Amino acid sequence: MPATIINGREVAARVRGEVAREVAAITERAGKPPGLATILVGDDPASAIYIANKRKASAEVGIADFHSPLAPHSSRAEVAAVIEEFNRDPDVSGILLQLPVPEGLDGAALTATILPEKDVDGLTAISAGRLMHGTPGLRPATPLGVIELLDSYDVALEGAEAVVVGRSNLVGKPVAFLLLHRNATVTICHSRTRDLAGVCSRADVLIAAVGSPELIDADHIKRGAAVIDVGINRTDEGLRGDVDFDAAVERAAFITPVPGGVGPMTIAMLLQNTVTAYNLQRR
Ligand code: NAP
Repeated sequence: MPATIINGREVAARVRGEVAREVAAITERAGKPPGLATILVGDDPASAIYIANKRKASAEVGIADFHSPLAPHSSRAEVAAVIEEFNRDPDVSGILLQLPVPEGLDGAALTATILPEKDVDGLTAISAGRLMHGTPGLRPATPLGVIELLDSYDVALEGAEAVVVGRSNLVGKPVAFLLLHRNATVTICHSRTRDLAGVCSRADVLIAAVGSPELIDADHIKRGAAVIDVGINRTDEGLRGDVDFDAAVERAAFITPVPGGVGPMTIAMLLQNTVTAYNLQRR
C-alpha cells in the first residue's frame, strides 16, 4: 500500500491558527502583542522574498512587525547596533537576522550578539547548548517543524530507530537532538558515512537534510518507515527533495512531498518561536 502523504500545508495552517489564538490572548492580557524584528542587510532578491514572506505571515497572526533594512555595505558595527537596539526593546520578542549577510560581514558572529531569549532562529551557540542539554530555550524552526509533522501523524518516536542524514547546525544536528529528547535511538549520517543505504534502511524514522536531489532511494528505506524530506533542490525538472518520492512512496508508511511537506512548516514554527520567546522573557 502506498504511504500516507504528510500534508505540511495543512499542519502549518493549524499551527498558524494556534499561534494566532495565543497572540490574541497575549494582546488582550498585556495590551500589546509579541513583536518580531527582522533585519535584512543588502538587496539579495531571494533574501528579500524570504523576509517579506516571514513578515506577511507574522502580521497575519497579529505579531507586531519591526523591520530594519540595512544598506549592502553596512559595517559590522552598524548591524550590531541595530541588533543591540532590538535586544533592549521590550516590545521586540524575537530577532531574526536574515542569512547569508553580504560578503565582508560575519553572519555567525552577528547572530551571536542576539539575546538567547530573543533568538527565534535558535542559531546561537547558547540556544544550541540549551537544546543539547534539554533545558528551556529556542530551537531552530525547521527541525521543530519536522517533529510537529511526525507528531501530527502520530508517528511513534519513543524507542524508534531514527536516522538523520545531514549534520548541519541548521537542520541535521538540532533535529537529531530533538529526536533524542523524544527517546528515539538516533544515528547521524553525513558525507563520509560508509554504506549510507545500509544505515538508512534500519530507520523507522528517516530524516533527509542533505541538499542532494533524490539521493535517498528505495534501497535506503525500510518498509513501513516514516520519511521526512527536508531537502529543497532546484533542478531542470523543477523542485526536488533529497528523497526519490516515487520510489519511496511505495515502501514508506508516511512521507512528506516536496513542495508541500517540511517547507511550509518553517515559517509556522518561526511564528510559534516568537510566542515561545515572549513567554521565555517573562518566566
Ligand atoms: P548543508 O549545511 O549543506 O548540510 C548538508 C549535510 O548533508 C552535510 O552534513 C553533509 O555532510 C551532508 N551530505 C552531503 N552529501 C551527502 C551524501 N552524499 N551522503 C550523506 N550526507 C551528505 O545543508 P542544510 O542547511 O542542512 O540543508 C539541507 C537541505 O535542506 C538543503 O536542500 C536545504 O535547501 C534544505 N532546507 C530546507 C528547509 C525548509 O524550510 N524546508 C530549511 C533549511 C534547509 P558533511 O557534513 O560531511 O559535509
